[in-house]
Amino acid sequence: MTGSSSEVREMLAKLVAFDTTSAKSNLELIAFVKTYLDGYGVASTLIPSADGAKASLFASIGPGGGGIGLSSHSDCVPVEGQTWSSDPFKLQLRDDKLYGRGSCDMKGFLASVLTSVPLFTSRELKEPIHIIVSYDEEVGCTGVRPLIARFGSDLPHPRVIIVGEFTNMAVIDAHKGVDSYRTVVSGRDADSSLPQLGVNAISFAAELIEEIDRIGAELASRKTNNRFQPPFSTLQVGTIKGGRASNIVPNTCEFLWQVRSLPAAELDYASKRLNSYAEQMLLPRMRCVGRAASIETQHRGSVPAFLAKPGSEAVSLALALTGANATSTVSYGTEAGLFEEAGCPTVICGPGDIEQAHVADEFVESSQLDGCMSFLSKLAETLTS
Ligand SMILES: [Zn+2]
Repeated sequence: MTGSSSEVREMLAKLVAFDTTSAKSNLELIAFVKTYLDGYGVASTLIPSADGAKASLFASIGPGGGGIGLSSHSDCVPVEGQTWSSDPFKLQLRDDKLYGRGSCDMKGFLASVLTSVPLFTSRELKEPIHIIVSYDEEVGCTGVRPLIARFGSDLPHPRVIIVGEFTNMAVIDAHKGVDSYRTVVSGRDADSSLPQLGVNAISFAAELIEEIDRIGAELASRKTNNRFQPPFSTLQVGTIKGGRASNIVPNTCEFLWQVRSLPAAELDYASKRLNSYAEQMLLPRMRCVGRAASIETQHRGSVPAFLAKPGSEAVSLALALTGANATSTVSYGTEAGLFEEAGCPTVICGPGDIEQAHVADEFVESSQLDGCMSFLSKLAETLTS
């Protein structure tokens, strides 16, 4: 085990010990990172959330404009309802695997970046390295947006962004987008012995859900993109609730659904299709009985798809640093599309495997952290004049 291996493990243990589940504050972790950076003479800018309970951090090492942003999110998914073999907030080493909540997603990358700070500060960098830590990535990539909005004003506009989400250190240049919706069906209640006087919101919701499945089948049969698995945009309904008792015609039903779109897909295609189906096929029938009946679909949030531009500086840099000769895609969403939209060429490359993210007994292989440390040391080499 090299010195850097044990240092990065110790750093990861410290980061995992902060319970930064998205619903909780991340301020203790951010204060820890800030103090650590202060120790190397690196100043941080904190970007607090509107309620002050959370913050993002931006710190630069080295002079000049542009620079390479190393981006991680501080939050992790809940452990509730999962059965862990050991305390999820106490990093455990077993068989060269480091177990703990966030070890893979994505404190392993942040630990590698922080452990590399002494190396970065010891070099005469010809352009800066920026450390970016966000919050609320797991609940719609909301925390990084106010930070990105300050690029080019009081924060520098990085030339390249590397998002260190778990890719087994493979170079990822695209992922699908995610759009989330809530549909609320309002009918009219009645006694179940006189159903003709009511508008059954659950039955109409069921018809909408069948339409969602038909739209999904149509998208699956369209021209596909074989770089993705599955090679088409997908839809699914995730939750449904409605009704009060079996002897009352239910007057409301609501369901949450999601679209995962290929990067080139037409935005809002599925919601527009669903709305016109509701207008033409369902509402006339509903309003014959209950004039106030309605179907409302609300867009709850989106994580944009990510597609690096041809010849992207970020992709060439990551290929050079990893020695890989090809890029691939991932099936999960990240903050990469937001950086790319802001005009920063972006790439995703980081330690860990998707199979270990979000599950009980989440872990990152020690060798993945070693790979990330050597990636960051090559980055320092490349940026040294
Ligand atoms: Zn993540």
